[in-house]
Amino acid sequence: AVGHQSVDAGIVDHDHPARPVIPGLAPVVGADVSVPLAHGGTTRYVNLDYAASAPALSSVAAAVAEGLGEYASVHRGAGHLSQVTTARYEAARETVREFVRGRVDDAVVFTRNTTDAINLAAHITPGDVVVLDIEHHANLLPWCAPRDGRNRARVVPACDTIEDTLVALEAELESAPASLLAVTAASNVTGEVLPIGRLASIAHRHGARILVDAAQLVAHRPVSIVSHGIDYLAFSGHKAYAPFGAGVLIGRRDWFDAADPYLAGGGATADVDLGPRAGGVTWHTGAARHEAGSPNVLGAVSIAQACRALADLGPEAIGLHELRLSERLDQGLAAVDGVRPLRVFTDSTDRVGIAGFTVDGIAPRVVAEYLSARHGIGVRDGRFCAHPLLRRLGHPAGAVRASFGAGTTSEDIDRLLDALRALTAETI
Ligand code: PLP
Repeated sequence: AVGHQSVDAGIVDHDHPARPVIPGLAPVVGADVSVPLAHGGTTRYVNLDYAASAPALSSVAAAVAEGLGEYASVHRGAGHLSQVTTARYEAARETVREFVRGRVDDAVVFTRNTTDAINLAAHITPGDVVVLDIEHHANLLPWCAPRDGRNRARVVPACDTIEDTLVALEAELESAPASLLAVTAASNVTGEVLPIGRLASIAHRHGARILVDAAQLVAHRPVSIVSHGIDYLAFSGHKAYAPFGAGVLIGRRDWFDAADPYLAGGGATADVDLGPRAGGVTWHTGAARHEAGSPNVLGAVSIAQACRALADLGPEAIGLHELRLSERLDQGLAAVDGVRPLRVFTDSTDRVGIAGFTVDGIAPRVVAEYLSARHGIGVRDGRFCAHPLLRRLGHPAGAVRASFGAGTTSEDIDRLLDALRALTAETI
């Protein structure tokens, strides 16, 4: 069973007692990869790009290997391995439901990723949608596709504070009926966490449902669909320590059952009759209605194992680990000349392990390439699939993002800080 217990992250380095060390919380694949440096030699790769794709947990890699070791067709075979595979796939839904504290009758649909999950949500949502302008494109563009000849996305500009943003969203929902409020739980650019429970109450007060883009949340904080009042939740395996290729949309069953199948084909149908007295096509209800074709069983299995591993680590412990690393990074960045952190809100009190920043006078691509070539550090630069947000933050050409999680150590953070100090010293 998935349990949410806490563990102590531990912070003592016995070899160097003066220097506090926060060990990585969990073993990840690729933690000891060596990479070449531009000036010769090699160094241990420091992966500070978890928000793009987190490295797989070692236990997830083991689960994938086990799944590969004995698999056969899912939902279609009478053979033993088909049955084992089908059971694993269906059990994965229950593990995910339990991990995010879903309702017993919620549909858990496996998708390719968050983008696919939100496109599916857009497919099943009957009416208008209210969104903020700070969203990742995955939670903007699916809503902007015209429906019945009109644009049903009502985009609300975020304000400088979370409090004012909640007021603005409430005013928009009051002004005209909407089916859904679709919001990110944590910004992929700044890491700022939004108050999901309060947003859900606002949506529900105005007869709307809420969809939470939890791509940047599930691996970092406890999530409870029931206690936050979430109607639909989307996330990707590859940002939660599972490999690429699978994601989830979980939520209230009625919209899934009322919509046409997202993908038409085998597995989504109970009966197809095209004969002279054709009864037509009878589609399944529930998750199967939208999952035609052979599903990504290994993706589902790896997400389920990631959920189990994250629950065993304890989302609270992960949050604490990231908080300590964030404090170390924020303090360090504040002391590097010309480094400017990105924030949307002046009153945000919680951030996941994401630090977006710019360096005065140095293009983000140059910073990222320098960190990679000279120091073996992987960060992301660019506009992070959030062009409106970068424009709003005054950096239409992009920024740099360091992001981290369960496998990150304080040494990794220090390597980044040392490298940035060296970069700014070199260019002054
Ligand atoms: N939503 C947020 C907040 C994200 O950060 C991302 C990816 O960066 C996505 C959605 C899209 O995720 P995926 O590329 O797995 O579909």
